[in-house]
Amino acid sequence: MAKYRIKIREDLCLGDKQCWDKAPETFAISDEDKSYVVNEDGNWPEYILAAAMNCPADAISLYDAETGEQVWPKPGSEGSKEKE
Ligand code: SF4
Repeated sequence: MAKYRIKIREDLCLGDKQCWDKAPETFAISDEDKSYVVNEDGNWPEYILAAAMNCPADAISLYDAETGEQVWPKPGSEGSKEKE
């Protein structure tokens, strides 16, 4: 069973394929240069989380598949990545 439910904001997606680069069995890029999910269980959860964390547009949200709890962006982070 997939660990995460994945949602992608197509309106934010830049089509730069960084998510596909991190988790190529989970994400794919459409002809319109938008990311979409091909298999929520396609890669190890660590890679899927890394893909979401590294999305430059913050277009990927992850939810715990069992509890529905939002995992990324971290609740309260206003949808932005944690800055170094
Ligand atoms: S990393 Fe983000 S912006 Fe880039 S293709 Fe994936 S969802 Fe779109």
